[in-house]
Amino acid sequence: MNVTHLECANCGLRHEARRLHNLCTECGKPLLVRYDLERAADSLTKESLAGRRADLWRYREVLPVERDENVTSLGEGFPPLVHASRLGEQLGMNELYIKDEGQNPTQSFKARGMTAAVSMAKELGVKKLAVPSAGNAAGALAAYAARAGMEAYIFMPKDTPRANVIECEQTGAHVTLMDGLITDCGAGVGRRKEAEGWFDVSTLKEPYRIEGKKTMGYELGEQFDWELPDVIIYPTGGGTGLIGMWKAFDEMEQMGWIGSKRPRMVTVQAAGCAPIVRAFEEGTRFADEFPNAHTTASGLRVPKAIGDFLILDALRASGGTAIAVTDDELIAATKEIGAAEGIFCAPEGAACLPALRKLMSDGAVKSNDRVVLFNTGSGVKYLESFST
Ligand SMILES: *Cc1c(COP(=O)(O)O)cnc(C)c1O
Ligand SMILES: [Zn+2]
Repeated sequence: MNVTHLECANCGLRHEARRLHNLCTECGKPLLVRYDLERAADSLTKESLAGRRADLWRYREVLPVERDENVTSLGEGFPPLVHASRLGEQLGMNELYIKDEGQNPTQSFKARGMTAAVSMAKELGVKKLAVPSAGNAAGALAAYAARAGMEAYIFMPKDTPRANVIECEQTGAHVTLMDGLITDCGAGVGRRKEAEGWFDVSTLKEPYRIEGKKTMGYELGEQFDWELPDVIIYPTGGGTGLIGMWKAFDEMEQMGWIGSKRPRMVTVQAAGCAPIVRAFEEGTRFADEFPNAHTTASGLRVPKAIGDFLILDALRASGGTAIAVTDDELIAATKEIGAAEGIFCAPEGAACLPALRKLMSDGAVKSNDRVVLFNTGSGVKYLESFST
């Protein structure tokens, strides 16, 4: 709609809008969508939101799709921001919230990214989509591709949760299970995509999934009446949602909706796969591939993220941090959150709770801070993780 161009997040090179892109043609890093925000703000005002559709397409002016008929939607976005008052009381916090992304179509926030990516692929004439996935991205792509009448080719590790494999099959996708991790699946897509005519929708290797996920930032603004929280704790794999929210906050400031104050952004990863935590602690701009990655929180099993520098930049610029928690801690936290608040979290989302405890005991989070935990998916997709 109001897209002016795409811009490399690393070298700044400008790329033309309304054409198919993967990574920067100069340096191989992710591209970000840029908008004429002054024009967007003419019709997208805080007041205008009241009467709009209750999904993420309410922010239409700052989303990339040109023509309405290409919007491929299942009602994604705008899940509740739950005031976790009982859990908060146990921790000694008044203002603890859970953004419950498990209520999205396909039961995770991957729906947000895929609604945008598939809609744009449709607009640009793509017929076949391919993705490597640790699980939930696969299910989301399969669903949105079906809805758009496109083919989906999905590559997942053999030990991906069963629910993810079955949902892809039942929504008509072509599924290939591979030995190895998401990085190996990515290489599998890379080897075949040219010959097969697939468009690669790996996160941040195409410019639009992040646009869908950034709407979490707009929603936090709206749900908190334009007073952003003090701390956001985010289970980080590829980091698309964290980078996306960080981008959304800048757009909101440019439209005059918020000031320059930002939440402290906190990455939580599993101890068995914590490349961002390691790089944050070592003070490097990029993160090395994490060896022997393993965790039951499959969405966090991302040993190497192409947007590593964007995650690390946001953590540092916001005064945030990165924390690793063990699988035992995050599984125990699932039941704690469930029993206190009635939300059956994905293990990734549950990881936010032990991270918060560590931040509180370090004094990095105080009892009167307003804190948001991102429950990024639903526990029902991870029955194997709870089967002991
Ligand atoms: C993909 C996924 C994550 C990680 O999200 P990123 O934005 O890629 O860091 C976290 N939790 C769940 C449930 C996921 O599916
Ligand atoms: Zn570049």
